[in-house]
Amino acid sequence: MRVRVERGYYCFGTILGYRYAKAKDGGKMLVPHEAIAPVMKEALEGFAAGRFQTTSEVARFINGFPETRRRGRYGLSRQMAKNALLNPIYAGYMNVPKWGISMHPGKHEPLISLKTWRKIQDRLAGNAHAPARQDLNHDFPLRGFIACACCGNNLTAAWSKGRNTHYPYYTCQNRHCEMKGKSVRREKIEGEFETLLKSITPAPRVFAMVKSMFIQRWGQMTTLSRQTADEARAEIPALEAKTGKLVERIMEATNPAVISAYEKQIAALDRRRLFLEDTAKNASPVQGKFDDLYRTACTVLANPHKLWASGRYELQRIVLRMLFTERIAYCRNEGYRTAPISEPLRLLTSYCTAPKGMVGPAGLEPATKPL
Ligand SMILES: [Zn+2]
Repeated sequence: MRVRVERGYYCFGTILGYRYAKAKDGGKMLVPHEAIAPVMKEALEGFAAGRFQTTSEVARFINGFPETRRRGRYGLSRQMAKNALLNPIYAGYMNVPKWGISMHPGKHEPLISLKTWRKIQDRLAGNAHAPARQDLNHDFPLRGFIACACCGNNLTAAWSKGRNTHYPYYTCQNRHCEMKGKSVRREKIEGEFETLLKSITPAPRVFAMVKSMFIQRWGQMTTLSRQTADEARAEIPALEAKTGKLVERIMEATNPAVISAYEKQIAALDRRRLFLEDTAKNASPVQGKFDDLYRTACTVLANPHKLWASGRYELQRIVLRMLFTERIAYCRNEGYRTAPISEPLRLLTSYCTAPKGMVGPAGLEPATKPL
């Protein structure tokens, strides 16, 4: 097995999104599973881009496809989704911790780029640290969202002691960075951020046009989750019938080994039933939620600067999460680099800047031009 791994062939059980096929040298190798690989690719890339914010959302997305559920008998748990996100196999690399092998290049076809995989690891690490540090961050809403343009590390923020009072600063603490310790005043970096927010505020008239697209997408999601719920609900009676039959057999059986085998089957059926009930309940669309969600999204998208200027930490973090897909690079001398803006916002700004009826990439062009 070690030789197989060194030659670039993974050989440790199943990987969701792949199946085993014959390799040229006679052994077996991973190849993308025709039906499941595209789902995994979308899940992984979706998490990297911020479309899915948590590992639960990734699990729910994957479980929403019947092809993936037939393989995993109880569907994917949150932990299994997290393990998949951590696994470099999807980027074409192998980790075998027990042999001290990490990031060994594999011969199989990757589903995502290494860059995307790294982005996933950053997001997983960032999410894990966020709760513990939350209280400390309130003075510095941009902390964790701003990267040093020079080295790519997060800028840290702190109060620095002056002669008479304390001053708030953001600074790069990377030892190997030439910008290390060169601090930026909080007023400057946050002031420039407000200017950036103003520059990406879409024109109000664009919202009416985009609303129909939101409604359409919502409809698709609703249909999908209703199907998932219906399928789950339909399977439950058969499971209950099976359980009933097994109970009858236990009553008639005398051999302890046989009884124990039946009990195991009942336990397995029970776990499956719980999973299905959970799916049926949680996949059901919440009626009437659309208006609420749509209004919230539009409030943020229509006037991010106003929410930001409220100075309320929670609102500021919502603005950051909804508008940007990843950290924004900041250069001490030149200010913010091009910001990675999120899909809804890109859609809105494209509508503003693209020729009539066309949607094109708009980047960070000021979005105030009327159509
Ligand atoms: Zn730096």
